[in-house]
Amino acid sequence: MSEATVIKPDLQFVNEIIKGGGESLKKCYQCATCSVVCNVTPEGNPFPRKEMVLAQWGQKDKLLASPDVWLCHQCSDCTAYCPRGAKPGEVLNAIRKQSIKHVAMVPFFAKIATDWKLLPVLFAIPMVLFYFLMPYKNIDMVPLNGEGKMAYHLFMPVFPNIDVTFILTAIFAAASAFVGIKRLWNGMKAQAGEMQSSGSLTGDIVSSITTILGHTKFADCNVNRMRQWGHMLLFYAFAGLAIVTTWAIVYLYGNEFLHIPAFGPFHFGESPYPNDDPVKILALISSIAFAAGVVILLLNRIGKAGKAGMGSYFDWIFLTIVIGVGATGMLSWGLRLAEMKIGYWVYYFHLVFIWSLFAYAPYSKFAHLFYRTTAMVFAKYSGRDKK
Ligand code: SF4
Ligand code: SF4
Repeated sequence: MSEATVIKPDLQFVNEIIKGGGESLKKCYQCATCSVVCNVTPEGNPFPRKEMVLAQWGQKDKLLASPDVWLCHQCSDCTAYCPRGAKPGEVLNAIRKQSIKHVAMVPFFAKIATDWKLLPVLFAIPMVLFYFLMPYKNIDMVPLNGEGKMAYHLFMPVFPNIDVTFILTAIFAAASAFVGIKRLWNGMKAQAGEMQSSGSLTGDIVSSITTILGHTKFADCNVNRMRQWGHMLLFYAFAGLAIVTTWAIVYLYGNEFLHIPAFGPFHFGESPYPNDDPVKILALISSIAFAAGVVILLLNRIGKAGKAGMGSYFDWIFLTIVIGVGATGMLSWGLRLAEMKIGYWVYYFHLVFIWSLFAYAPYSKFAHLFYRTTAMVFAKYSGRDKK
């Protein structure tokens, strides 16, 4: 006689998935259409049907240590073709949210980044922080620069106010990401048991990063084809803006500590820089890519809501912060050129949004950058993804 397997469902986990955007979970009747239509799934290891079964049965440990949950690119092909309207793409998204909470270095941050009831706390932290960092609470008192013009560094000094705050934030975010990646990797490894290791972790990392840079997995999606371009524009816009930030630091401290003077088109020294400076041109190109990426993702999300689902709070709060960064950044730039003092407050909110983006990165939807990469490397390293 075969042995019976006793399954202990974690009902609280099931409820958390349902409340976190996976409310259609129980509609699934296991037809496997979703696994057939998913082009992202590794050969021989299909998802997301098995994740739907595991979620219905409350198999928390298995799901939170599953690379497949993170290999999903949320393209929504499965959701569009599911005959029961069980929205497997949205369910996997809700499971990823639980995964982020599970590996979080600071669980409180994961809670405020994923629970709509804590939205006021999410923004109150950076708002209070930057309010205390402002030397002038009355914007009429902010002095003008040597040319008699508005300058944001006079409203909020770059050093120490901005630099120290963001260096500490970056250290916190990096430590959180490192701890999360380590916990996710160890969980996946423990569940995988005996692995047929590829033997080349470095090669698997390089191959995964190459896939990410080319966004080739998104090209496998059918329903949400435009998402590839929106995501790619946003990805490279972030990369461009990261270079701009580093470049501005080099200008500032290169001039202050190494006494490098402005030469040619390079304006070493304090901002604002003229519009023909390469750093300004890169900032403008990145901002346009940023805006275009956001618009494509937004239109795609709204236009495909019937087939792909509207997303959950988890998706929308991330998109709100991203839009907040871009909108306040461009608006504060325009208001400074127009010499309108309200620009100081817009700049204040710009700092609030930027801080939120980075401090919550390993706890919000932004965390997919770390954890999907980890799952892609693990899938290759463990021999699970042989594509
Ligand atoms: S989620 Fe939908 S397509 Fe997938 S197994 Fe369930 S009912 Fe079928
Ligand atoms: S959302 Fe896309 S990648 Fe994720 S399981 Fe469905 S079809 Fe596959």
